[in-house]
Amino acid sequence: MIPPRKTRTIRIRDLEVGGAAPIAVQSMAATRTRDLEATARQIRILSAAGADLIRIAVDSKEDVAALAKLRAATDARLSVDLQENYRLAETVAPFVDKVRYNPGHLHHHEKHKSVHDKVAFLVGVAQKNDCALRIGINAGSIAPEYDARFPDDHVSAIVACAIDHCALVDGLGFTNYVVSIKDSDPRLVIDANTKFAAERPDVPIHLGVTEAGMPPEGIIKTRIAFEQLLSRGIGDTLRVSLTLPFDDKGREIEVGRELIHDIENGRFRSVPPNFFDGLNIIACPSCSRVENERFIELAEDVKRMTAYAKEHDLTIAVMGCRVNGPGETDDADLGLWCGPNFVNLKRGEADVGAFSYDDILGKLKAELDALIAARPR
Ligand code: SF4
Repeated sequence: MIPPRKTRTIRIRDLEVGGAAPIAVQSMAATRTRDLEATARQIRILSAAGADLIRIAVDSKEDVAALAKLRAATDARLSVDLQENYRLAETVAPFVDKVRYNPGHLHHHEKHKSVHDKVAFLVGVAQKNDCALRIGINAGSIAPEYDARFPDDHVSAIVACAIDHCALVDGLGFTNYVVSIKDSDPRLVIDANTKFAAERPDVPIHLGVTEAGMPPEGIIKTRIAFEQLLSRGIGDTLRVSLTLPFDDKGREIEVGRELIHDIENGRFRSVPPNFFDGLNIIACPSCSRVENERFIELAEDVKRMTAYAKEHDLTIAVMGCRVNGPGETDDADLGLWCGPNFVNLKRGEADVGAFSYDDILGKLKAELDALIAARPR
């Protein structure tokens, strides 16, 4: 049930992705990279689960130093997530097999430099270190110029951004790259990836539904997107992004392989037409930026505490850090994001305040009750 894919084949060290190669399954360490012991444990857990590639996020010089040590201690294929500091590529590329940059983050540093020059720098680093690249686009962090061009149309904005960045990288003579276009809504993921694949059928695609949240809903959202895309021959590598206790992260790999196996064998799960009705909880999978390990517990508590509101069409977003939290919660009715000692709470675009980990659930419930009371009956 997965038709032959027509993308070109790229190489991530000895792993082929695209074309006739098997669909590669990857994941990401959820721990702070500088916490060497915890991150080494993540790599062991994901390797044991059969990950083809493991991504590590790097934000700082301490993270770079940790990555060098992690590289020395594992044979796993590693990919690095540059977050906002694209310049770090130069120092981390020697330790990894693939570098991911987000076009929506390039404007944060060195504002005087053009996007072309920044991408040329990244391509040069990838060539010098024999790394693959991922152009990783996320609907939660759209590059400002595309947001301005398509203010009310996320799909057109992110597809145009993906196509332009492919043209930029092609123009620099580099073809060893994949593209990902992710969102927390599987319907947007299906739409955007279908449009991108129609425009660039040659470019290998990395699939994912970001911030899908906790199982089972997070798995169902991912399955909805992957069934629709893989069955059309779209998708060469994938990541299942779930909010799980750190020691259970191997589950992301197992679920990825189960989904591929089911789709290959024509086992599609039907989803009731009202699946998207009612309360929607979005939660990030955690990464090196997570500010307090209580984040996973918090996400689970939010799900449990809000179960009484399941009939209401509301979205609650729970994010692990202050860097991406404010932006990634923009479209939610209620948004929470973690700091080291406090959890920030937002109602729509209005800040409600920062509350201790012990107090946040009570504040969230008060806001949720007020939203429900204000809705027309
Ligand atoms: S919201 Fe922050 S902690 Fe969560 S995955 Fe994104 S960057 Fe990592």
